[in-house]
Amino acid sequence: MEEREKIARLQEMVDQSHSIVFFGGAGVSTESGIPDFRSTDGLYHQQYAYPPETILSHTFYERKSEEFFRFYRDKLLRLDAQPNAAHKKLAELEQAGKLRAVITQNIDGLHQKAGSKRVYELHGSVLRNYCEACGKFYDAEYMLRSDGVPRCSCGGRIKPDVVLYEEGLDSNTVSGAVRAIAEADMLIVGGTSLVVYPAAGLIEYYRGHRLVVINKTALSTAADLSFLSSIGQVLSQIKV
Ligand SMILES: [Zn+2]
Repeated sequence: MEEREKIARLQEMVDQSHSIVFFGGAGVSTESGIPDFRSTDGLYHQQYAYPPETILSHTFYERKSEEFFRFYRDKLLRLDAQPNAAHKKLAELEQAGKLRAVITQNIDGLHQKAGSKRVYELHGSVLRNYCEACGKFYDAEYMLRSDGVPRCSCGGRIKPDVVLYEEGLDSNTVSGAVRAIAEADMLIVGGTSLVVYPAAGLIEYYRGHRLVVINKTALSTAADLSFLSSIGQVLSQIKV
């Protein structure tokens, strides 16, 4: 199918749907200039002695807190990033009553910044941080401005509400995401491939016939419609 035909087909699907769910991976954020910390291409250079999967693990966080926060401030706290065309279109679709939920693997809060209300953040958010001793909330600016290991006024260490390697996903978030997918009449997967965890497991709950995958890296044969392109570029052409 030609690109133009595909966009027309996508528009038709959106027009027929009333309970769209969007599942987004790292590709959604990279279009806002946030690098995918899991991809090894050049991101880490020689600045870090450990791979990101090691640094962003619970064990590393406990044992080498200071090094963890150096990486965290440097690579994960991108507070100047702005929502792109994909974030904006999804917020518009929700406002119009067509989109039921956004499920994201990203931790940057850009969907909310674009205006989305119902967002299931599978891996948490850098915008929420809590003292491990007293539970006091701290915002991302506080984390960015702090030096070394960020401390609460009570002296406790402040932990980002981000799911680290070796940690489990929040069960309420997962069950909310599963319910949204199970009841969706259209599922759009963007910026990730269907084969990667946790997308692979969650998508099995989808019962409909409008599964769309938009991904720069690989066409999906399992989808009803698949784009090998930028998520922002595709969604921006959809009329709400
Ligand atoms: Zn405290």
